[in-house]
Amino acid sequence: MDTGAGCIFCEILAGRAPASFVAKTPTVSAFMDINPVTPGHLLVVSNDHFVGLTDTPPEVMAEIDELGQRCAAALRASEIRTEGINLFLADGRAALQEVFHVHLHVLPRYAGDGFRISADRASVPSRDDLDHSAAALREALPDRLSGY
Ligand code: 5GP
Ligand code: ZN
Repeated sequence: MDTGAGCIFCEILAGRAPASFVAKTPTVSAFMDINPVTPGHLLVVSNDHFVGLTDTPPEVMAEIDELGQRCAAALRASEIRTEGINLFLADGRAALQEVFHVHLHVLPRYAGDGFRISADRASVPSRDDLDHSAAALREALPDRLSGY
C-alpha cells in the first residue's frame, strides 16, 4: 500500500488511527465520517494514497464509485434515516477539499436535515458561450471522445 506521510486516512487504513469501518476491498475502503453532516455520513477512500481526481487511476475511481453505490444501497436498507443520498467529492482546496487523500462522501438525506448547498450561479450564458465552452473541453479531453 502506498502511504502519504502525515495523511490521516493513510494512518486509518494502516490501523494506526481509529475508524469505524463499513467495508474493505483490496482497492478501496469505507468508514464513517468522524464529523458527520447527517447520521450515517460515510467516506469511501482508495487504499493507496492518491490526492484527487488528477492522480487517481480511473479503475480506482470506478471502484470508489461502485463501493459508494453499494454503501448508498446499504444506507437505504439500514435503520439509518435515509430518504435520499448525496454523493460529494471535493477535488482541490477551492472545492473545499480538506483531507488530501481522494474520498467520496456518501450522505444520507431526509426532509428537514438542515443540509444546504448555496451557490450564486453565474449569469445565464448565451448558446455561443455554451458552444465555446464545449469546444474548449472537447479540445482538452485527452482521448477526444468521438461522436461530437
Ligand atoms: P473534505 O472536505 O476533504 O471533502 O472532507 C474531509 C472529511 O473527512 C470531513 O467530512 C471530515 O469530517 C472527515 N475527517 C477528517 N478527519 C477525519 C478522521 O480522522 N477520521 C474520519 N473518520 N473522518 C475524518
Ligand atoms: Zn493518504
